[in-house]
Amino acid sequence: MSVLVFCEYSDDGFKKFTREAMTYGVKLSESLSSEVIAIVNDPDFDQNTIQHHGISQVVTYSDVPLGDSQSTAQVISEIATQKNAKVVIIPFNSTGKNIAGQVAVQCGGGIATSVSGLPLSVDPLTVPVNVFAGKATAEVTIENSCAILAIQSNSIATEEKPVDGVHVESYGGDQSSAIKIIERKTVTDDIPLPEAELVVSGGRGLKGPENWNLVTDLANALGAATACSRPVADSDWRPHYEHVGQTGVTIRPNLYIAAGISGAIQHLGGVNNSKTIVVINKDPEAPFFKAADYGVIGDLFEVLPRLTDAVRKF
Ligand code: FAD
Repeated sequence: MSVLVFCEYSDDGFKKFTREAMTYGVKLSESLSSEVIAIVNDPDFDQNTIQHHGISQVVTYSDVPLGDSQSTAQVISEIATQKNAKVVIIPFNSTGKNIAGQVAVQCGGGIATSVSGLPLSVDPLTVPVNVFAGKATAEVTIENSCAILAIQSNSIATEEKPVDGVHVESYGGDQSSAIKIIERKTVTDDIPLPEAELVVSGGRGLKGPENWNLVTDLANALGAATACSRPVADSDWRPHYEHVGQTGVTIRPNLYIAAGISGAIQHLGGVNNSKTIVVINKDPEAPFFKAADYGVIGDLFEVLPRLTDAVRKF
């Protein structure tokens, strides 16, 4: 019996959400008294990180890009069958959202998504999950012989727990993909949003993409990542990987500054675990003020440049 952890590896290494999944897998395997095995999408992965996070067994595969969710899910479910997996842990990021359901179907497993913490019991396996855009927590019990847990980012703190060495084997099944990579392009050199400690975010109050420099100027002055509300991404003012909320990225920074965002429940679902929330809105009745630690009732076109100046002088 084993616990498998899907570990996405890229040129930037293992991201924080993957390291969280490793910690989750190690802790769960201890409770289940089972082995923990990482599945890595690149044979040239960074062994040190895996080793420092307490995983000593790795199965690698190659030639299947993460964007090919069907082939990725197939590889994971075949490894799950070979390794007699009791639990498959998948980070609930953009890749995970596309593959978790397919893995569950192919393994005949039960699935819990938006898992927000460690299991409440292991027999039967019961986990907490975020519901109602993070406003409430439900308990989901999976009775199938295999459980797929799609872990919400920031739901567990990463823990280092070094092991002596790592045994690596290659997945022997079909590793071909219908998708062929022609060229790799870096999407952004900016600070990755899910890992950022400081985030400056803009909504429809910015009026249009031509005003986004107000957000990026403040973000650059602070060394922060930028984010946006969903309508902003839907209108192509900003890329979708910046959209936070129920249907976008979940973040938990130390500081979240929201300018021109009303604070709809679906937006709050992705940001309400931020340590400090600062809201800038010209409407004193904007719902976001109820969730804010600090609020500025004012015109963002005046407030943001002044805030940026103040930060630069600091
Ligand atoms: P608006 O609601 O238009 O608010 C703009 C705000 O800017 C207003 O409060 C206004 O007072 C303020 N403003 C305007 N001008 C200025 C100014 N000059 N200075 C200061 N303030 C100003 N939304 C998300 O963000 N993330 C999600 O993941 C998400 N998922 C959804 C899922 C579903 C199923 C549904 C139905 C909706 C979802 N939404 C999501 C949309 C959500 O309901 C809201 O419509 C959206 O968050 C509103 O975006 P906004 O605050 O930018 O725009």
